[in-house]
Amino acid sequence: MPDKYHIHTEHAPPRFRPVGKFGIVDWREDCAGCHNCVKRACAYGFYKDEADTLHGEIGYLDYIYQCKGCLSCVQDCTKGILTRVLNPEYNRIGDSYYTPSIVLSTWFQADSGRIPVSGAGYGGPFTGSGFDSMWTDMSEIVRPTRDGIHGREYINTSVDIGRKNDHLVFVNGELAASPPLLEIPLPVIFGALPARWLRGAAPEAVSGAAAELGLMSVVPGNLVPRGRSVESEKIVPLLNTPESLSDPAFAAAEMIIVPDRPDIGAVRAALKDRNGRQVVAIALNASAGTAERAVALTREGAEVLFLVFDSHGRETAPAGPRHMRDVLREVHVALVKDGTRDRVTLIASGGIAQAEHMAKAIICGADLVTVDIPLMIALECRLCGECDRGEPCPVAFDEIDPKFAARRMTNLMGAWHSQLLELMGAMGMREVRRMRGEVGRCMFFEDLEREIFGPLFGTRKKEGARA
Ligand code: SF4
Ligand code: SF4
Repeated sequence: MPDKYHIHTEHAPPRFRPVGKFGIVDWREDCAGCHNCVKRACAYGFYKDEADTLHGEIGYLDYIYQCKGCLSCVQDCTKGILTRVLNPEYNRIGDSYYTPSIVLSTWFQADSGRIPVSGAGYGGPFTGSGFDSMWTDMSEIVRPTRDGIHGREYINTSVDIGRKNDHLVFVNGELAASPPLLEIPLPVIFGALPARWLRGAAPEAVSGAAAELGLMSVVPGNLVPRGRSVESEKIVPLLNTPESLSDPAFAAAEMIIVPDRPDIGAVRAALKDRNGRQVVAIALNASAGTAERAVALTREGAEVLFLVFDSHGRETAPAGPRHMRDVLREVHVALVKDGTRDRVTLIASGGIAQAEHMAKAIICGADLVTVDIPLMIALECRLCGECDRGEPCPVAFDEIDPKFAARRMTNLMGAWHSQLLELMGAMGMREVRRMRGEVGRCMFFEDLEREIFGPLFGTRKKEGARA
């Protein structure tokens, strides 16, 4: 059995005080000074540094950041002097997709490398859009194996990248070499950073952390610093300019990405002539015609299709763009029907905000995903957009230390890896490759509404319909 993939995490506290969701207002003047004060009973120990903080010995109390809002202390205080309040700054971080809750949870994972837990249960709506309208089947959680997923049981999170033959190929009676196939230990690669974050030590730290983790990082060809080894640093150049296509500096890369174009077959052949062991991925902007194009490219010999969604996981469409959840299912099913699904690797890029999105994208049909914005949130970014407006960054993003940045991104991936193991363990799956397209182990809200809620409760009112 191969060694278990393990990500070493290490506490990396934030440089700046994070924005928290809840705070506890404490009306001290009424305090009765009970010996068994409820603060000592906080299951998360958030009050333990309070005395030191009040005496100015440590920087700041972090329970406004970490409080789970369980209300235990608020309910049990005999004098009723504690009140839970929502931090007004909280709703100003993140955006409609990278919600404040996702930002906070990402910070926690980057600080600690641990799986985030909610002490107050889930208080949100039953369903939402995109990945929030699908649920994985955790039925195997009632049948835990002998010593669990962190013990002897092996759950494999490795994936292959490249084309696979569906039969042996002989040339002049000799077995031909198989196409190049790369293996990485997690179904994720670090994506190209949006322009906002191409500054300071961030780009270098992203590539460094990816290589340390045995993963890869996508970097636009014109932004790969001269003198860097794309091969040893596991950089995947995105060749989006004519000059970069013929740049010999990229000939040794294990994988390159070329945007789709009318003569893509000739371009791919030229790149293969230069280095036959290099995996050539073709980038497609996800849209209404993507499934059809994916089938055509796969028939022509494409090894990897890199499906590009926007930062909120949407396809390109003039109106009503679909979420990647639906586009991936369509592309996967089209390839299955064509009998070519196992030949090609699908990478979904854009809109992967949490560990569960990685798993859900794979269930919808991707082999692996890219992660980008969560890496920047791990570096304390609040998505406030002040840098776009030329205003000072509240977390001094430009001044970040590359080692600290790499540590925070490594912690985030450690937490995502643990969550993938938990999810697969609960689903009774030991191999992430087998999770691809396994929609039978998942529930979709539309199906539940059609088959269960509709017959029981009637058809939902549609917006704008007359009562
Ligand atoms: S509300 Fe719960 S988690 Fe927050 S400080 Fe009180 S006991 Fe701790
Ligand atoms: S200004 Fe805001 S969006 Fe820009 S890097 Fe800093 S925290 Fe992130």
